[in-house]
Amino acid sequence: MSVYLYNTRNRSKEEFKPLNDKEVTMYCCGPTVYSYAHIGNLRTYIFEDLIANTLRLAGYKVKHVMNVTDVGHLTSDGDEGEDKMLKAAEREKKSVMEIAKHYEDTFFRHTSELKLKRPTIVCRATEHIKDMIDFVKDLEDKGFAYFSNGNVYFDTAKFPKYGCLSGQNRDDLKHGARTEQDVNKRNASDFVLWFTSSKFENQILQWESPWGMGYPGWHIECSAMSMKYLGERIDIHCGGIDHIPVHHENEIAQSEAKLGHEWVNYWVHMEFLNTKNGKMSKSTGGKTTIDTLREEGYEPMVYKYFTLTSHYRSAAVFSIEAMDGAKKAYENLCDFVAEFKAKASNFSLNEDETKELEILKSEFNNYLFDDIKTPLAISHMWGVLKDNKKSDALRLAYILHVDSVFNLGLKDVEAKKGDTIEITPEIEELLEQRKIARAEKNWAKSDEIRDKLQALGIGVKDLPNKEIELIKL
Ligand code: AMP
Ligand code: ZN
Repeated sequence: MSVYLYNTRNRSKEEFKPLNDKEVTMYCCGPTVYSYAHIGNLRTYIFEDLIANTLRLAGYKVKHVMNVTDVGHLTSDGDEGEDKMLKAAEREKKSVMEIAKHYEDTFFRHTSELKLKRPTIVCRATEHIKDMIDFVKDLEDKGFAYFSNGNVYFDTAKFPKYGCLSGQNRDDLKHGARTEQDVNKRNASDFVLWFTSSKFENQILQWESPWGMGYPGWHIECSAMSMKYLGERIDIHCGGIDHIPVHHENEIAQSEAKLGHEWVNYWVHMEFLNTKNGKMSKSTGGKTTIDTLREEGYEPMVYKYFTLTSHYRSAAVFSIEAMDGAKKAYENLCDFVAEFKAKASNFSLNEDETKELEILKSEFNNYLFDDIKTPLAISHMWGVLKDNKKSDALRLAYILHVDSVFNLGLKDVEAKKGDTIEITPEIEELLEQRKIARAEKNWAKSDEIRDKLQALGIGVKDLPNKEIELIKL
């Protein structure tokens, strides 16, 4: 079955064709660990995880690489301002490494509470400085980088494709640049590959380099680490839409300048989670985290369910009313599952149901294969769950399939206690005898067994497909 994804690079939905049939390579820009990831950031990671799961559903193996930015990201993506990590260390009176460890640990606790699979490789910028220095040296040797007043810059004038992802051209960028200009740059769109102490004397984390003691610019880490772990061409590169105009343009420029060929086949970007008042952002105090949500009564699975009700390429608006709605829906979902588990656990699917299950699963899968259409997949799910003509066993098998992709914790929901029927050997024997009696049209015997079962507190309802439903009396 083909998977379709929207490729930002070509502004179109395209059939996904992997470079290598055996394993899809996927790189996702990870967190800058100077504060807690807010729930908007996590919406992006939830969808990245779902893309990987969808590809697995289609039969691919996925190698998913995520970086952790623990050095180099300044308060503006365009290299201006202070170092985010340093600012946090000053604010919290801790060392930069303590800050990085604390926020990285919390990030992975949150992603695991959201039941996201840990990426195949998680790589920290501070552990890949040599890879970055080698990369910058190579760019310098190839004539794409220049040294100016202590810093090494990428010369975007040497890369005519600059702006290809966002559709901007370099001249627009020059005229449109809002921030004060770094006078050391040759072009407004040039960006720093390596900073030295001549510019940021208070930078605590510094490394020896051919240009003096210093530290990397933010963009170089993603190119260096993705190339190290995924090779010179990769299938999919993901991130939030804010990364399109600066960070990903810069990643493309430096990577393709080094390689001399195209680097990423599919660029996939997630729209933002906003508040009613506008953008939710870490740097402007987006304070809602998985922990604060839980304190307000919304478990991580409720938030995850909420994110799945909108498409990854549509902005979503966070509000307490929306969370209340998601909480109710998620509880409802768990109730259905608990009930199915109570009633259906002792029955297997008959042949017709097995066929029907395959059809339902492929309908559900197709919504995901078509550019991850989660709202349609969710509405398919509700359609199946609420269809009383379908047996509990069928609906249970279907919802467990849904859960194998969405990971909403449904497989761990316990069977509804009050309705649980324990099938003892005695009951099993009576049910078998009743089945035989009915097959022989011996209704008197069948009624006699029904009475015996009733005496044991169990009602029997005959369903049209010769299946039965047991009811706790
Ligand atoms: P950061 O840690 O700030 O580098 O961001 C981590 C990820 O979250 C990146 O892929 C961003 O593009 C993404 N992101 C940032 N803000 C939001 C938001 N409000 N909604 C969804 N994704 C976001
Ligand atoms: Zn990146």
